Amino acid sequence: MGKKLWWMATLVLMAAYFIIRQAPATVAATAQRKNLVVIDPGHGGWDPGAVRGTVYEKTLTLAVAMKVGEWLLQHNIRVYYTRTRDTALASTVLHDLNNRSSLANRVGAALFVSIHVNIEATGTVAGPIVYYHKSSPASYTLARQVSQSLAPLNGRYRPPRPIGQWVLARSHMPAINVEVGFLSHNADAARMQSVWYQSHLAATIGQGILGYLNR
Ligand SMILES: [Zn+2]
Repeated sequence: MGKKLWWMATLVLMAAYFIIRQAPATVAATAQRKNLVVIDPGHGGWDPGAVRGTVYEKTLTLAVAMKVGEWLLQHNIRVYYTRTRDTALASTVLHDLNNRSSLANRVGAALFVSIHVNIEATGTVAGPIVYYHKSSPASYTLARQVSQSLAPLNGRYRPPRPIGQWVLARSHMPAINVEVGFLSHNADAARMQSVWYQSHLAATIGQGILGYLNR
């Protein structure tokens, strides 16, 4: 092979290599986005969240979040968890929250769903409430879908509430925070610790998410 021809062949091979290397990555990233949900169990590690006696919010959020993920996986939705163990994502609240939304942004998630547990002073308020970022119409649509799905658990449709939460604001995709119940309410605290109710909550949240993705 002449020197000129050798160089041309090398250039063609190099170009082909870069095209082949780029193409599958682009296709994978687009396909991934549509069906990928990041599930974020609130708190963890040094941050217990709401506490009532020996019951920690971080334990309940992890239990429910893992079940939401399992339900979605059974319905062919890909899932990423921000944590799967009793760990924090950083040593300060701000960095911890940043890492949660950054993960969702980095993996190109279609949705970000954070799971939390509520607490209030009177002990009279119960049931799930969905929060969405106030400046995101798509987050509101997702929040409404999940709220509709959760309505039987509240005995009525409880409209989602706008909020200026950091973790929701920093997420580049529709993002909601599902507060699954009130630790300050006796019956709510008891049922949130039941595995059956956790599974029921998870399936109900999952149906709302699936409803949004298939709309
Ligand atoms: Zn919380």
